[in-house]
Amino acid sequence: MSEKLAILGGPKTKTTSFGTGKRFGLDEAKELLEALEQNTLFYHFGKKVKQFLSDFNDLYGVKYSVATTSGTASIHVALGAAGITVGDEVITSPITDQGTLIGILYQNAIPVFADLDPNTYNMDPKSIEAKITPRTKAIVVVHLAGNPADMDPILEIAKKHNLKVIEDCAQSYLTKYKGRLCGTIGDYGCFSTNDFKHISTGDGGIVTVNSGDEQDFLTTHAFADKNFKRFGDQVQKDLHYLAPNYRMTELQGAVGIAQLKKLPWICEQRNQYGDRITQGISGLPGIQPHKVVEGNQCTYWFYMMTLDESQLTCTRKEFSEALAAEGIPNQAGYIANVMYLQPMFVKRQAYLGSHFPFDLSDISYSEGDCPNAENILKTAIRFSVNEFFTERDIEDIIAAIRKVAAHFAKVPASAN
Ligand SMILES: *Cc1c(COP(=O)(O)O)cnc(C)c1O
Repeated sequence: MSEKLAILGGPKTKTTSFGTGKRFGLDEAKELLEALEQNTLFYHFGKKVKQFLSDFNDLYGVKYSVATTSGTASIHVALGAAGITVGDEVITSPITDQGTLIGILYQNAIPVFADLDPNTYNMDPKSIEAKITPRTKAIVVVHLAGNPADMDPILEIAKKHNLKVIEDCAQSYLTKYKGRLCGTIGDYGCFSTNDFKHISTGDGGIVTVNSGDEQDFLTTHAFADKNFKRFGDQVQKDLHYLAPNYRMTELQGAVGIAQLKKLPWICEQRNQYGDRITQGISGLPGIQPHKVVEGNQCTYWFYMMTLDESQLTCTRKEFSEALAAEGIPNQAGYIANVMYLQPMFVKRQAYLGSHFPFDLSDISYSEGDCPNAENILKTAIRFSVNEFFTERDIEDIIAAIRKVAAHFAKVPASAN
């Protein structure tokens, strides 16, 4: 017999509020004051952005990185530095933030969507390979929700077809693929420090340049600074190609220095909590936990499980509502729809009043293009994992899911 659900008038599982904490404190304030006392907030004259990048490079074990204004900007910069241009095709994920796609279209390249693994929610290398054409120039790999994509086969495909690999790590700080940090594996790694990510500078971003090649770094750096080439004492202002202004200011750099110090703890907490939830809910009929492949490390930007309604007596909506009534806020699904079903793609209109660059290609976007991705969004239940949660919060999340799952199980769960 299962316990009576809160939604049916039974006792609520979670009776305490979730743990919270302050993300910013005196460390950030001290860095900000120092930035202001420099009497300049320009990255090239001040020390904060330089320090932020140098700390980031140490943490990640990379030689070169570039600061930008956002995750979106970072991806655009990487694409620009990689030479992605008019009419090129770039393969990426249909479940992501639009920031993954904006730079592709601003380079007048064409996004092509690969299908996902149904349990890790990351790009399936077989689907990537199937989408390659003679125009394909790059893969933007999204490591969704802190979970690493399957990089080895992706790198192999990229090598075989001479493609650049750009990692979108906006949701995946200190995520490890077979012991290697995501963002250091492809040609470029792109991070976001917008206010909703593991760490925040309000807005901001970082691009790693993993070739370790100085020329590649200089090109990437210039692409974020209107093509000004400012390194050390040397400044070159001649313009050889088009580049936007995505410069980080000293204020973001200052906050970033303090935030980076907290990052290992934040990721450690999220990793442990997320994995604990998976242990606590695995084996329940009709529930697929957020799958992390063995040997990998997920830093859970959120937790997302999927339901198999054929094994449950409820719909996803009913499950989601029952879980919320137990005191666990959650969302049925993630983004409203796969990216390629956004009007921009269906109508092939990136720019107002134009079908460019889509009309360089005969590509069309329609329902059914990536069935696994569509199914993930139809079956997912998503909830927060936060570093400030307490052990008790995690136990309550597990208990609430188990209670709701037991109530709606078609066949009672075997003891586990
Ligand atoms: C947040 C996010 C971005 C964009 O980052 P911004 O800093 O908001 O521009 C890109 N890709 C993914 C997967 C994201 O989650």
